[in-house]
Amino acid sequence: MLELSTPVQYVKGVGPRIGEVLAAKGIHTVGDLLHYLPFRYEDRLNPRGISELRPGEMATVVGEVRNSGLFRTRKMPIFQLTVGQGRARLRCLFFNATYLQDKFTPGQMIALYGKVEEDERSRELQIIQPQFEILGDPTDSGENGAEKKAAESLEIGRIVPIYEAIGRLTPRWFRKAIRTALDNLTPDLPDPIPAAVRAHLGLISPRAALWNVHWPEPGESFEALQSSRTPAHIRMIFDELFFVELGLELKRRQQKAQTGIAFGLDDRVRAAIKKILPFHPTAAQKRVLKEIAADMEKPYPMRRLLQGDVGSGKTIVGFEAAIIAIENGCQVALMAPTEILAQQHYFSARRILENAGYRIVLLTGSLEADRKREVRRHIAQGNAQLVIGTHALLEEKVEFAKLGLVIVDEQHRFGVLQRLKLMRKSGDVEETSRATLGGTGEGARPHTDARPHINSAPHIVTSTPAEPDVLVMTATPIPRTLALTLYGDLDLSVLDEMPPGRTPIVTRCGSDDESPKVWEFVRKQVTAGHQVYVVYPVIAENEESELKAAIKMYRELSGKIFADLKVGLLHGRLDAELKEQVMRMFQRGELQILVATTVIEVGVDVPNATVMVIEHAERFGLAQLHQLRGRIGRGAAKSYCILMTGGKVSEEGQRRLDAMVQTNDGFKIAELDLELRGPGEFFGTRQAGTPSFRVANIIRDAQLLEAAKHEAAAVIAGPNAEISAEEISRALVHMRARWQHTYGLVEVG
Ligand code: ADP
Ligand code: MG
Repeated sequence: MLELSTPVQYVKGVGPRIGEVLAAKGIHTVGDLLHYLPFRYEDRLNPRGISELRPGEMATVVGEVRNSGLFRTRKMPIFQLTVGQGRARLRCLFFNATYLQDKFTPGQMIALYGKVEEDERSRELQIIQPQFEILGDPTDSGENGAEKKAAESLEIGRIVPIYEAIGRLTPRWFRKAIRTALDNLTPDLPDPIPAAVRAHLGLISPRAALWNVHWPEPGESFEALQSSRTPAHIRMIFDELFFVELGLELKRRQQKAQTGIAFGLDDRVRAAIKKILPFHPTAAQKRVLKEIAADMEKPYPMRRLLQGDVGSGKTIVGFEAAIIAIENGCQVALMAPTEILAQQHYFSARRILENAGYRIVLLTGSLEADRKREVRRHIAQGNAQLVIGTHALLEEKVEFAKLGLVIVDEQHRFGVLQRLKLMRKSGDVEETSRATLGGTGEGARPHTDARPHINSAPHIVTSTPAEPDVLVMTATPIPRTLALTLYGDLDLSVLDEMPPGRTPIVTRCGSDDESPKVWEFVRKQVTAGHQVYVVYPVIAENEESELKAAIKMYRELSGKIFADLKVGLLHGRLDAELKEQVMRMFQRGELQILVATTVIEVGVDVPNATVMVIEHAERFGLAQLHQLRGRIGRGAAKSYCILMTGGKVSEEGQRRLDAMVQTNDGFKIAELDLELRGPGEFFGTRQAGTPSFRVANIIRDAQLLEAAKHEAAAVIAGPNAEISAEEISRALVHMRARWQHTYGLVEVG
């Protein structure tokens, strides 16, 4: 008998070699294999008779190979395959498909799936480039008739699951392996979801779900199958979401149970805040500060996410929170994702806070060793009140005298699972390493992605064993309900109002041959006293060729087109000091035009910059374009974003550009981005190679996600008339195992 936890290699027909192939795709156990769901289904219960096919429909046809061959046209080789049922015949064409030459032999049974079309000349029906699967070979089957029959019954005469192939493991291979696993699966599959929760959602048993999701019962709605809405799908999706939410809820509870610092917020502190404000805060800023302040007053640590579109004014809110902590005698750490941003925060902090007498230091990875040591000493001795830095702050151990608040800026690229991963380093670190901010603790993996803990708890020590408050600021516009559910462990504040006096940015699209006109426009703006960004797509800063192109562009602009103006260059490879110098010059207006790569994507704030020209705009993602554009339109003067395209633009690329021209609204852009890229990419779960949800899709399954959060909260709240203590502890045990196994996360709780 197989258990869900049995290594997958013990499934008959798998073995160690294939086991390795599967492991590379995250399939280690029988349970993992059974969670490898079909991406679609074919109705081979009622495969279509060739004679009844209609042009335009998607159809599955099961038939016999009659003949096949390659013929060459002037344009390309075309492979033609004829499939028959009795006397009826259907032609299939595959373009450029020389590789199919020796694939078929007459008499083979084959299943085809594709769109039926009518050939314009002959009026005959055909399917172009169908998906196909060879079901049975007349030559190689002989010896075991019974086995062949059984195999056939998995392939024909039913609704058949279609799996994504992994290397040489075909959909057919998966059908066999999964079927074998199901046939040998232990009958004893306890249900870790409490009975009351099951009842609320009408969930079927795990066993029935596993069977039916792979081998649907005859009569199952085909539409429900294709849209993952059968009872089996719902059970599996809910199951996955429920245990993620359960972990998040538990996390949240534990945070509330920890000792934090109850900051005092009296008139003196209020006055201190008022004193530094350079402008009247917006109503949204006021509301959000209130939410933050209320958290900070509480005796448990704050874990709050502040979400606000680019330019909504998050920085000042962060500074206000910092003052509350500092006025209470605590230190504050403000972390930014790049050095440039850290430097910028440092400059604005000095501008805004230093007059009021606050002591601010900048600590970045690139400081000279001597200076670093000195800064660290200031921090350790408690002289430095506000410490601004990059993640180097976390990567290298920094000792604080009394750290009370950590602000993490611009976490707009975080996927939920990445966040979950990062938690491993936070609340889970042993007591012993609490003395430092970011000491990763024993056994924690080294940072590979240079991101800070989001949730996290840089640990303080010293006299108080209290956890510092954490405020995370992000520009990712996630719809509120979704954000609440995804960031179940964080409280959420939203800045949904732009500071006054902004005129909407005008966005235009143009191609390279219009560049003379564009440069003329740039010159006009500069003459009027404004500043301009010219952004060049060096998306990965290690791309040599892209970087060269950007530098060439800079030479052309600074040496020829704008030889009489002051043009600067900023890219990720410049050393930190130079970067800082360039940025500072631009900030002070000593440079009129800044040619830059995407290093300026986040956070850079120069209100006098009114034009952004983005070269090869088609190469950028939508979210990135929006972030870039957020660098302008920060002052009262009208701003312009000009999207230049070079060469051919794909259809999707064009949709991105159109979206940019049409709207400035981060939420709308995010929605479109989601649509164009799919949730995996959007939430960054894929890019970083972190696991994404196995069966759930947080967009498609948003409602189930809400239900899961709701039910999880009820379970965590403790036993009641519906749910027993035993059920809760069973669910928690299962949750921990799941987090550990599936997401590679250390246990929660
Ligand atoms: P983001 O949310 O993108 O980090 P910033 O905090 O950088 O935005 O703020 C964007 C710009 O708006 C800055 O120049 C800032 O000084 C200005 N700003 C923020 N709040 C206000 C306000 N209430 N009134 C006027 N200007 C503001
Ligand atoms: Mg910002």
